[in-house]
Amino acid sequence: MSTEAHVDVAVAGGGPAGMAAAVAARRAGATVVLVDEYAAPGGQIWRRSFTEIGDVAPASLPRDGRALCRALASSGATVLAGTTVWAGEPGGARHTLRVHGPGGEPGRIHARAVVLATGAYDRPVAFPGWTLPGVLTAGGAQALAKGQGVLPGRRVLLAGAGPFLLPVATQLRKQGAIVVAVVEATRRREWLAAAPRMARHSGRLADYVAYRARTLDTTYVWGHVLTRADGEGAVESATIAAAAPDWSPIAGSERSYAVDAVCTAYGFLPSTELARAFGCALDGDAVAHDGDMRTTVAGVFVAGEAAGVGGAGMAQVEGELAGACAAGGAGDLGQLRSRRATAAGFAAILEDLFGRRPGLARLADAETILCRCEDVTAGMVDAAGTASPSALKIMTRCGQGPCQGRVCERMIAERLGTPARFSTRAPVKPIALGVLMDATDSSSTE
Ligand SMILES: Cc1cc2nc3c(=O)[nH]c(=O)nc-3n(C[C@H](O)[C@H](O)[C@H](O)COP(=O)(O)OP(=O)(O)OC[C@H]3O[C@@H](n4cnc5c(N)ncnc54)[C@H](O)[C@@H]3O)c2cc1C
Repeated sequence: MSTEAHVDVAVAGGGPAGMAAAVAARRAGATVVLVDEYAAPGGQIWRRSFTEIGDVAPASLPRDGRALCRALASSGATVLAGTTVWAGEPGGARHTLRVHGPGGEPGRIHARAVVLATGAYDRPVAFPGWTLPGVLTAGGAQALAKGQGVLPGRRVLLAGAGPFLLPVATQLRKQGAIVVAVVEATRRREWLAAAPRMARHSGRLADYVAYRARTLDTTYVWGHVLTRADGEGAVESATIAAAAPDWSPIAGSERSYAVDAVCTAYGFLPSTELARAFGCALDGDAVAHDGDMRTTVAGVFVAGEAAGVGGAGMAQVEGELAGACAAGGAGDLGQLRSRRATAAGFAAILEDLFGRRPGLARLADAETILCRCEDVTAGMVDAAGTASPSALKIMTRCGQGPCQGRVCERMIAERLGTPARFSTRAPVKPIALGVLMDATDSSSTE
């Protein structure tokens, strides 16, 4: 990779949103670089196995995924796979992404416009035993299974809320796991009440029904939450309890399952670190944007789950819109805006039904770790005597480990009862000291 590149549009993230943005920007005549830290584009939903890294459009992907992979490959966009963006610097007419490649080699990409398509990650939930080996998020388990063909365990319990539980159950079973139970926090009657609104999105409903049909012989427990995981050195049992309407556990209703893996799926959190490093404002958990995916920083656009969780279809249409606008606004923007509005309608239903409820925050007791990088417990957060996440960061080191608060930030803010967040600065992803030193050297010679 060249250490210095100058393009019209730089895209950070190569999932459905970033790929669509790169294709749309190329179609509008812009020069484009797309950067993704995984070894090939596709993002979370179209993550390919390591044996398929060199394929343009692997056969394991669904038809829409293969089509977008082909479109990207033939678009003329430069794709830097295995490359991480660790800093974003706004610069008026030219913005800069600082990157490091697969071998750690540093680089800078200067672009007139940037599209941030950094996706989302599993929303973590802290409960007694959540840091035991064998307890992981459903997305983490899926990434292991899809990318490496590795199972998190043989007897797996999946707990969470919403339709993501079923594809993960299907994928783990396909690789040979026994799914002992799928534990859904919402109740069946809540799904039935949402049915009239869902009826307008028949394609999405059909996807769900197909996954449900493939898992009919799996125990499906409605209206329960995972309350704890126990074991000597690794998880051996998982306990669930009936959930109150706010998803707090109802005492006395507990039951346990013998397992060697537990996966949680209580929703996703937009990956906003890079956007925050650029100085973009947030709207709740997502990057704030207008109807054409412009953030609050001129020339910086956002698309996909970083702009709000809404599924791959919505990510793709937002990518097209952001890519077209970043390249100067060519194409039928009206049609893209209206497709996005339809997709956003479905996302709103999912949020109403499965959005995180406050009772989950009550699962952690004083001994439960909230920041697993720095071993900061809920009790230590309570005892610190501050309501400010940034002050707590200095007092306890929470959020200062390798994940830089991605895992604990929202849980700590919830514990403190504040919408405030940690302050953010580069590097937004862990980097080698040599990369940082090189960046310091090149900045001082400018
Ligand atoms: C763990 C997980 C698993 C999921 N599995 C499914 C599924 O099976 N089915 C389904 O319908 N939906 C799934 N989803 C939802 C899915 O993410 C979306 O529907 C869709 O993939 C979103 O597309 P996107 O382009 O916004 O983000 P993503 O697909 O998440 O793509 C974002 C990309 O950005 C890259 N990236 C992020 N930060 C950086 C950086 N700093 N430098 C370089 N690259 C970076 C990532 O490597 C990733 O490839 C999953 C979500 C998650 C978080």
